[in-house]
Amino acid sequence: MRVQQEIKVCGDCLQAIANGFDPNFCGWDGETAAAVESGLDRLGDHVVAGDGELGFCRSACECCNRPEYGERYEAAILGTETAAQSEEPAALRQPSRLLRL
Ligand SMILES: [Zn+2]
Repeated sequence: MRVQQEIKVCGDCLQAIANGFDPNFCGWDGETAAAVESGLDRLGDHVVAGDGELGFCRSACECCNRPEYGERYEAAILGTETAAQSEEPAALRQPSRLLRL
C-alpha cells in the first residue's frame, strides 16, 4: 500500500479516520455525523490518519467537505498500484497484439 493522495481533514474527520466512525461516541450532531460519514464513504476504506497537524486552514475539509475554517490534520488515502496499473497495460497490449496477427 502506498500513499495515493494526501488530504487535509478537520478534527472530526481525523477522529473518525483514526478511531472508526461512531457518532454516539463522538457526540456529534446529526449534521456533523452525516457529513463525516458521507466523506468517509466517498474516500473509501483505505484512509489513514497522518501524524501531522497542519494548523489553521481556510480550505474546506477534504473528507466531509464542510467549508468552515479551522484546524486541519494530515490524512492519506492509500492504494495498491494494481488498480491503475493492471488495467492500463492490458489495454495498451491489446491493440499491438491485434496488429501482429
Ligand atoms: Zn471533515
